[in-house]
Amino acid sequence: MINVTRSSMPSFEEYCEEIKELWDSHWLTNMGVKHKELEKGLIEYLKVPFISLYVNGHLALENIIEAYNFPKGSEVITTPFTFASTTHAIIRSGLKPVFCDIDPTTFTIDANKIEGLITDKTVAILPVHVYGNVCDIEKIEYIAKKHGLKVIYDAAHAFGVEYKGKGIGAFGDASMFSFHATKVFNTIEGGAVCYSDENLTQTLKDLKNFGIHDAETVAFVGGNAKMNEFQAAMGICNLRHIEEEIAKRKVVYNRYKTRLLGVKGITLNPVQENVKPNYAYFPIIVDEVEFSKSRNDIHRLLGEEGIIARKYFYPTTNSFDCVKEVGDTNQTPVALKISQRVLTLPLYADLSLDIVDKICDIILK
Ligand SMILES: *Cc1c(COP(=O)(O)O)cnc(C)c1O
Repeated sequence: MINVTRSSMPSFEEYCEEIKELWDSHWLTNMGVKHKELEKGLIEYLKVPFISLYVNGHLALENIIEAYNFPKGSEVITTPFTFASTTHAIIRSGLKPVFCDIDPTTFTIDANKIEGLITDKTVAILPVHVYGNVCDIEKIEYIAKKHGLKVIYDAAHAFGVEYKGKGIGAFGDASMFSFHATKVFNTIEGGAVCYSDENLTQTLKDLKNFGIHDAETVAFVGGNAKMNEFQAAMGICNLRHIEEEIAKRKVVYNRYKTRLLGVKGITLNPVQENVKPNYAYFPIIVDEVEFSKSRNDIHRLLGEEGIIARKYFYPTTNSFDCVKEVGDTNQTPVALKISQRVLTLPLYADLSLDIVDKICDIILK
Protein backbone atom coordinates (compact mmCIF):
# COMPACT_ATOMS: atom_id res chain seq x y z
CA MET A 1 0.00 0.00 0.00
CA ILE A 2 1.22 3.49 -0.87
CA ASN A 3 0.18 6.21 1.57
CA VAL A 4 -0.06 9.91 0.83
CA THR A 5 3.04 10.42 2.93
CA ARG A 6 5.72 8.51 4.85
CA SER A 7 7.65 9.92 7.77
CA SER A 8 11.28 10.87 7.24
CA MET A 9 13.52 9.09 9.74
CA PRO A 10 17.25 9.03 10.43
CA SER A 11 18.96 5.64 10.61
CA PHE A 12 18.19 3.67 13.77
CA GLU A 13 21.87 3.95 14.76
CA GLU A 14 21.93 7.72 14.34
CA TYR A 15 18.90 8.20 16.59
CA CYS A 16 20.28 5.79 19.22
CA GLU A 17 23.55 7.70 19.24
CA GLU A 18 21.63 10.96 19.71
CA ILE A 19 19.58 9.76 22.68
CA LYS A 20 22.40 7.84 24.42
CA GLU A 21 23.36 10.69 26.74
CA LEU A 22 19.79 10.90 28.04
CA TRP A 23 20.55 7.62 29.83
CA ASP A 24 23.46 9.34 31.57
CA SER A 25 21.65 12.56 32.49
CA HIS A 26 18.16 11.15 33.13
CA TRP A 27 16.93 14.57 31.94
CA LEU A 28 14.02 13.73 29.66
CA THR A 29 12.09 16.96 29.24
CA ASN A 30 11.79 20.59 30.48
CA MET A 31 14.15 22.36 28.14
CA GLY A 32 17.18 20.05 28.32
CA VAL A 33 20.32 19.95 26.17
CA LYS A 34 18.59 18.44 23.12
CA HIS A 35 15.88 21.09 23.28
CA LYS A 36 18.51 23.84 23.38
CA GLU A 37 20.51 22.37 20.52
CA LEU A 38 17.45 21.97 18.30
CA GLU A 39 16.32 25.52 19.05
CA LYS A 40 19.68 26.83 17.96
CA GLY A 41 19.72 24.73 14.79
CA LEU A 42 16.21 25.79 13.82
CA ILE A 43 16.82 29.52 14.33
CA GLU A 44 19.70 29.18 11.91
CA TYR A 45 17.98 26.96 9.35
CA LEU A 46 14.66 28.79 9.34
CA LYS A 47 16.37 32.22 9.38
CA VAL A 48 14.13 33.57 12.14
CA PRO A 49 14.90 35.89 15.07
CA PHE A 50 13.17 33.94 17.89
CA ILE A 51 11.66 30.50 18.29
CA SER A 52 9.75 28.59 20.95
CA LEU A 53 9.49 24.79 20.64
CA TYR A 54 6.29 22.89 21.35
CA VAL A 55 4.97 19.39 21.88
CA ASN A 56 2.92 19.87 18.71
CA GLY A 57 2.03 22.55 16.18
CA HIS A 58 -1.55 22.98 17.28
CA LEU A 59 -0.67 23.99 20.85
CA ALA A 60 2.01 26.30 19.46
CA LEU A 61 -0.74 28.04 17.49
CA GLU A 62 -3.10 28.20 20.47
CA ASN A 63 -0.34 29.62 22.65
CA ILE A 64 0.75 32.35 20.26
CA ILE A 65 -2.87 33.45 19.85
CA GLU A 66 -3.25 33.49 23.63
CA ALA A 67 0.02 35.38 24.04
CA TYR A 68 -1.48 38.47 22.41
CA ASN A 69 -4.27 38.56 24.98
CA PHE A 70 -6.99 39.65 22.56
CA PRO A 71 -10.36 40.47 24.18
CA LYS A 72 -12.69 37.42 24.17
CA GLY A 73 -15.06 37.44 21.22
CA SER A 74 -12.63 39.35 18.97
CA GLU A 75 -12.61 38.45 15.29
CA VAL A 76 -9.77 36.80 13.39
CA ILE A 77 -9.83 36.79 9.59
CA THR A 78 -8.70 33.42 8.30
CA THR A 79 -9.04 30.82 5.54
CA PRO A 80 -11.42 27.83 5.57
CA PHE A 81 -9.15 25.94 3.13
CA THR A 82 -6.94 24.38 5.77
CA PHE A 83 -6.59 21.61 8.33
CA ALA A 84 -9.03 21.69 11.28
CA SER A 85 -6.26 22.91 13.60
CA THR A 86 -6.16 26.47 12.22
CA THR A 87 -9.85 27.16 12.81
CA HIS A 88 -10.02 25.22 16.07
CA ALA A 89 -7.09 27.18 17.55
CA ILE A 90 -9.01 30.42 17.00
CA ILE A 91 -12.25 29.13 18.50
CA ARG A 92 -10.56 27.39 21.44
CA SER A 93 -8.88 30.70 22.28
CA GLY A 94 -12.31 32.31 22.72
CA LEU A 95 -12.14 34.21 19.42
CA LYS A 96 -14.34 34.16 16.35
CA PRO A 97 -13.02 33.03 12.97
CA VAL A 98 -14.20 35.17 10.07
CA PHE A 99 -13.73 33.21 6.87
CA CYS A 100 -12.19 34.90 3.85
CA ASP A 101 -12.22 33.22 0.44
CA ILE A 102 -9.05 31.94 -1.21
CA ASP A 103 -7.11 32.75 -4.34
CA PRO A 104 -7.91 30.18 -7.06
CA THR A 105 -4.28 29.71 -8.14
CA THR A 106 -2.30 29.65 -4.87
CA PHE A 107 -5.19 28.40 -2.66
CA THR A 108 -4.03 30.83 0.06
CA ILE A 109 -6.22 33.59 1.52
CA ASP A 110 -7.39 36.08 -1.13
CA ALA A 111 -5.79 39.27 0.19
CA ASN A 112 -8.11 41.40 -1.98
CA LYS A 113 -11.07 40.18 0.06
CA ILE A 114 -9.65 40.79 3.54
CA GLU A 115 -10.45 44.47 3.99
CA GLY A 116 -14.15 43.96 3.28
CA LEU A 117 -14.30 41.63 6.30
CA ILE A 118 -12.67 43.96 8.84
CA THR A 119 -14.96 45.24 11.62
CA ASP A 120 -14.23 47.12 14.85
CA LYS A 121 -13.87 43.69 16.50
CA THR A 122 -11.12 42.45 14.17
CA VAL A 123 -7.78 41.92 15.93
CA ALA A 124 -5.76 39.66 13.66
CA ILE A 125 -5.32 37.95 10.31
CA LEU A 126 -4.43 34.25 10.39
CA PRO A 127 -3.50 33.08 6.88
CA VAL A 128 -2.10 29.66 5.95
CA HIS A 129 0.83 29.00 3.59
CA VAL A 130 -1.15 26.04 2.35
CA TYR A 131 0.88 23.25 0.60
CA GLY A 132 3.90 25.50 1.26
CA ASN A 133 2.54 28.12 -1.17
CA VAL A 134 3.44 31.58 0.06
CA CYS A 135 0.55 33.92 0.87
CA ASP A 136 0.34 37.41 -0.61
CA ILE A 137 2.63 38.63 2.17
CA GLU A 138 3.05 42.23 1.01
CA LYS A 139 -0.66 42.93 0.68
CA ILE A 140 -1.50 41.19 3.95
CA GLU A 141 1.11 43.21 5.79
CA TYR A 142 -0.01 46.45 4.22
CA ILE A 143 -3.60 45.81 5.36
CA ALA A 144 -2.50 44.74 8.83
CA LYS A 145 -0.44 47.89 9.32
CA LYS A 146 -3.20 50.12 8.03
CA HIS A 147 -5.76 48.65 10.43
CA GLY A 148 -3.51 47.84 13.40
CA LEU A 149 -3.97 44.06 13.16
CA LYS A 150 -1.60 41.26 14.13
CA VAL A 151 -0.58 38.74 11.46
CA ILE A 152 -0.10 35.17 12.63
CA TYR A 153 0.79 32.72 9.86
CA ASP A 154 -0.02 29.04 9.97
CA ALA A 155 3.21 27.87 8.34
CA ALA A 156 2.62 24.20 9.19
CA HIS A 157 3.28 23.25 5.55
CA ALA A 158 6.08 25.71 4.90
CA PHE A 159 9.15 24.34 6.69
CA GLY A 160 12.26 25.49 4.82
CA VAL A 161 10.35 27.73 2.41
CA GLU A 162 11.98 31.08 1.70
CA TYR A 163 10.54 34.22 0.18
CA LYS A 164 12.89 36.78 -1.37
CA GLY A 165 15.79 35.09 0.42
CA LYS A 166 14.19 35.43 3.85
CA GLY A 167 12.89 32.57 5.98
CA ILE A 168 9.12 32.27 5.66
CA GLY A 169 8.83 32.31 9.46
CA ALA A 170 10.35 35.80 9.60
CA PHE A 171 7.26 37.44 8.12
CA GLY A 172 4.30 38.79 10.05
CA ASP A 173 4.20 39.00 13.84
CA ALA A 174 4.48 35.24 14.26
CA SER A 175 4.44 31.94 12.38
CA MET A 176 3.59 28.45 13.56
CA PHE A 177 5.39 25.40 12.17
CA SER A 178 4.24 21.82 12.65
CA PHE A 179 6.82 19.07 13.11
CA HIS A 180 4.22 16.31 12.97
CA ALA A 181 5.34 12.94 11.59
CA THR A 182 3.59 13.66 8.29
CA LYS A 183 5.30 16.98 7.63
CA VAL A 184 8.45 17.80 5.63
CA PHE A 185 10.44 17.97 8.88
CA ASN A 186 9.36 16.02 11.94
CA THR A 187 10.16 15.63 15.63
CA ILE A 188 7.67 12.68 15.75
CA GLU A 189 5.07 15.14 17.02
CA GLY A 190 6.13 18.70 17.58
CA GLY A 191 5.94 22.27 16.52
CA ALA A 192 7.23 25.77 17.03
CA VAL A 193 6.33 29.42 17.01
CA CYS A 194 8.68 31.91 15.40
CA TYR A 195 8.13 35.53 16.35
CA SER A 196 9.62 38.98 15.98
CA ASP A 197 8.92 40.57 19.38
CA GLU A 198 11.45 39.47 22.00
CA ASN A 199 8.98 40.35 24.77
CA LEU A 200 6.96 37.27 23.81
CA THR A 201 9.77 34.94 24.90
CA GLN A 202 8.78 34.84 28.57
CA THR A 203 5.04 34.77 27.82
CA LEU A 204 5.37 31.73 25.55
CA LYS A 205 7.65 30.00 28.07
CA ASP A 206 5.02 30.56 30.76
CA LEU A 207 2.08 29.54 28.59
CA LYS A 208 3.65 26.18 27.76
CA ASN A 209 4.77 25.47 31.33
CA PHE A 210 1.79 26.12 33.65
CA GLY A 211 2.61 29.83 33.95
CA ILE A 212 5.52 28.92 36.22
CA HIS A 213 8.09 31.75 36.22
CA ASP A 214 10.36 30.22 38.84
CA ALA A 215 10.09 27.78 41.74
CA GLU A 216 7.91 30.10 43.82
CA THR A 217 6.20 32.37 41.28
CA VAL A 218 3.31 31.32 39.10
CA ALA A 219 2.56 34.27 36.85
CA PHE A 220 -0.64 33.05 35.24
CA VAL A 221 -2.78 30.08 34.32
CA GLY A 222 -0.75 28.30 31.65
CA GLY A 223 -1.05 24.78 30.28
CA ASN A 224 1.60 22.22 29.43
CA ALA A 225 2.90 22.07 25.87
CA LYS A 226 6.64 21.54 26.19
CA MET A 227 8.70 19.58 23.66
CA ASN A 228 10.53 16.66 25.27
CA GLU A 229 14.13 15.50 24.74
CA PHE A 230 13.27 12.47 22.58
CA GLN A 231 11.33 14.69 20.21
CA ALA A 232 14.16 17.21 20.11
CA ALA A 233 16.69 14.42 19.45
CA MET A 234 14.62 13.23 16.47
CA GLY A 235 14.57 16.83 15.26
CA ILE A 236 18.35 17.18 15.56
CA CYS A 237 18.81 14.03 13.43
CA ASN A 238 16.20 14.99 10.84
CA LEU A 239 17.57 18.52 10.54
CA ARG A 240 20.98 17.04 9.57
CA HIS A 241 19.35 15.50 6.49
CA ILE A 242 16.72 18.10 5.63
CA GLU A 243 18.42 19.38 2.48
CA GLU A 244 18.73 15.87 1.00
CA GLU A 245 15.14 15.12 1.94
CA ILE A 246 13.83 18.22 0.18
CA ALA A 247 16.05 17.49 -2.84
CA LYS A 248 14.59 13.97 -3.06
CA ARG A 249 11.07 15.38 -2.80
CA LYS A 250 11.90 17.69 -5.67
CA VAL A 251 12.76 14.74 -7.93
CA VAL A 252 9.40 13.10 -7.16
CA TYR A 253 7.58 16.40 -7.58
CA ASN A 254 9.18 17.04 -10.96
CA ARG A 255 8.30 13.56 -12.21
CA TYR A 256 4.62 14.18 -11.43
CA LYS A 257 4.90 17.54 -13.13
CA THR A 258 6.46 16.09 -16.28
CA ARG A 259 3.69 13.54 -16.53
CA LEU A 260 0.68 15.72 -15.59
CA LEU A 261 1.52 19.22 -16.81
CA GLY A 262 -0.75 20.34 -19.64
CA VAL A 263 -3.27 17.50 -19.24
CA LYS A 264 -6.67 18.92 -20.09
CA GLY A 265 -8.85 19.28 -17.00
CA ILE A 266 -6.01 18.92 -14.48
CA THR A 267 -4.50 21.99 -12.84
CA LEU A 268 -1.25 21.73 -10.89
CA ASN A 269 0.11 23.65 -7.92
CA PRO A 270 1.62 26.96 -9.12
CA VAL A 271 5.29 27.89 -9.38
CA GLN A 272 5.72 31.11 -7.39
CA GLU A 273 8.22 33.85 -8.14
CA ASN A 274 10.84 34.69 -5.49
CA VAL A 275 9.97 31.51 -3.59
CA LYS A 276 12.32 28.68 -2.59
CA PRO A 277 9.79 25.81 -2.34
CA ASN A 278 9.87 22.75 -0.09
CA TYR A 279 7.87 20.34 -2.30
CA ALA A 280 5.63 19.45 0.62
CA TYR A 281 2.53 18.36 -1.32
CA PHE A 282 1.37 17.56 -4.84
CA PRO A 283 -2.24 18.72 -5.11
CA ILE A 284 -4.11 18.45 -8.40
CA ILE A 285 -7.38 20.19 -9.23
CA VAL A 286 -9.65 18.04 -11.37
CA ASP A 287 -12.27 19.59 -13.64
CA GLU A 288 -14.73 16.77 -14.21
CA VAL A 289 -16.20 18.25 -17.42
CA GLU A 290 -12.84 18.75 -19.11
CA PHE A 291 -11.11 15.66 -17.75
CA SER A 292 -14.18 13.38 -18.05
CA LYS A 293 -13.50 11.83 -14.64
CA SER A 294 -14.06 13.49 -11.28
CA ARG A 295 -11.73 13.95 -8.33
CA ASN A 296 -13.73 11.29 -6.51
CA ASP A 297 -13.35 8.87 -9.46
CA ILE A 298 -9.56 9.28 -9.40
CA HIS A 299 -9.49 8.93 -5.62
CA ARG A 300 -11.46 5.67 -5.90
CA LEU A 301 -9.49 4.24 -8.83
CA LEU A 302 -6.18 4.88 -7.07
CA GLY A 303 -7.60 3.37 -3.88
CA GLU A 304 -8.48 0.18 -5.75
CA GLU A 305 -4.76 -0.15 -6.58
CA GLY A 306 -3.73 0.38 -2.95
CA ILE A 307 -2.72 4.01 -3.49
CA ILE A 308 -4.06 6.38 -0.87
CA ALA A 309 -4.41 9.92 -2.20
CA ARG A 310 -6.12 12.40 0.12
CA LYS A 311 -8.76 15.07 -0.36
CA TYR A 312 -6.72 17.80 1.37
CA PHE A 313 -8.66 20.02 2.13
CA TYR A 314 -12.18 18.68 1.87
CA PRO A 315 -14.49 19.59 3.45
CA THR A 316 -13.52 23.19 4.20
CA THR A 317 -13.42 24.02 7.91
CA ASN A 318 -16.36 26.43 7.69
CA SER A 319 -18.61 23.49 6.81
CA PHE A 320 -17.78 21.41 9.91
CA ASP A 321 -20.82 20.82 12.12
CA CYS A 322 -18.90 22.23 15.08
CA VAL A 323 -17.97 25.42 13.18
CA LYS A 324 -21.15 25.97 11.15
CA GLU A 325 -22.44 28.52 13.63
CA VAL A 326 -19.73 30.96 12.56
CA GLY A 327 -19.09 29.71 9.02
CA ASP A 328 -20.97 29.46 5.77
CA THR A 329 -19.41 27.81 2.72
CA ASN A 330 -21.49 29.99 0.39
CA GLN A 331 -19.45 32.98 1.53
CA THR A 332 -16.25 31.30 0.33
CA PRO A 333 -17.27 29.94 -3.10
CA VAL A 334 -13.72 29.55 -4.44
CA ALA A 335 -12.65 27.52 -1.40
CA LEU A 336 -15.78 25.40 -1.74
CA LYS A 337 -15.15 24.73 -5.43
CA ILE A 338 -11.46 23.91 -4.97
CA SER A 339 -12.22 21.63 -2.00
CA GLN A 340 -14.61 19.64 -4.19
CA ARG A 341 -11.99 19.15 -6.90
CA VAL A 342 -8.67 18.81 -5.10
CA LEU A 343 -6.73 15.60 -4.65
CA THR A 344 -3.32 15.42 -3.00
CA LEU A 345 -1.14 12.70 -4.48
CA PRO A 346 1.39 10.62 -2.52
CA LEU A 347 4.66 12.49 -2.10
CA TYR A 348 7.63 11.76 0.13
CA ALA A 349 11.38 11.66 -0.17
CA ASP A 350 11.70 7.91 -0.75
CA LEU A 351 8.75 7.47 -3.10
CA SER A 352 10.10 5.63 -6.13
CA LEU A 353 9.63 7.08 -9.60
CA ASP A 354 8.15 3.75 -10.73
CA ILE A 355 5.31 4.28 -8.29
CA VAL A 356 4.89 7.88 -9.44
CA ASP A 357 4.64 6.59 -13.01
CA LYS A 358 2.11 3.97 -11.94
CA ILE A 359 0.00 6.65 -10.23
CA CYS A 360 0.17 8.88 -13.32
CA ASP A 361 -0.69 5.93 -15.59
CA ILE A 362 -3.83 5.22 -13.55
CA ILE A 363 -4.86 8.88 -13.66
CA LEU A 364 -4.18 9.27 -17.38
CA LYS A 365 -5.89 6.02 -18.31
C1 LIG B 1 -0.42 19.73 10.62
C2 LIG B 1 -1.12 21.02 10.65
C3 LIG B 1 -1.38 21.72 11.84
C4 LIG B 1 -1.22 21.13 13.22
O1 LIG B 1 -0.02 20.63 13.52
P1 LIG B 1 0.19 19.44 14.59
O2 LIG B 1 1.67 19.49 14.76
O3 LIG B 1 -0.31 18.19 13.98
O4 LIG B 1 -0.53 19.82 15.83
C5 LIG B 1 -1.92 22.99 11.75
N1 LIG B 1 -2.24 23.55 10.57
C6 LIG B 1 -2.04 22.90 9.41
C7 LIG B 1 -2.40 23.58 8.13
C8 LIG B 1 -1.51 21.61 9.41
O5 LIG B 1 -1.36 20.94 8.25
